[in-house]
Amino acid sequence: MRININQIPAEGLEIEESLQEKELDLETTEVRFRTPVRVKAFVSRITNAVSAQVTLDAGMILVCGRCLEQFDYDFHKDFKLNYQAEKQDQFIDFNPDIREEIILDYPIKPLCKNGCLGLCPKCGKNLNEGGCTCGTT
Ligand SMILES: [Zn+2]
Ligand SMILES: [Zn+2]
Repeated sequence: MRININQIPAEGLEIEESLQEKELDLETTEVRFRTPVRVKAFVSRITNAVSAQVTLDAGMILVCGRCLEQFDYDFHKDFKLNYQAEKQDQFIDFNPDIREEIILDYPIKPLCKNGCLGLCPKCGKNLNEGGCTCGTT
């Protein structure tokens, strides 16, 4: 997402865009998406200080830290970005900062659900799908 700072009107500018993993340089990371990243931003400018109130929404695919099953996860984040535009700058590229914000909030040890039972340490069975016999023998 790139904006031309000369096109930001005095009352501010609302932008909505969908970004692909490629545009955010997230293809090679751990982060997996099932939808594009939807970005909504309200951009305003006071002389050369540009600020953006950003809302991100994306469907992700995570792997449960306990049972190792994949599950869908809805990522949502609101944040504010501030830029100091130099005279020679005409464009501001938001993508590096958006990328950063996603990585910062990406869940490291997610759970597919509260109270996921995980895998049996002996036989490796997914205990969410029913018990195994290891505990009873
Ligand atoms: Zn799980
Ligand atoms: Zn077992």
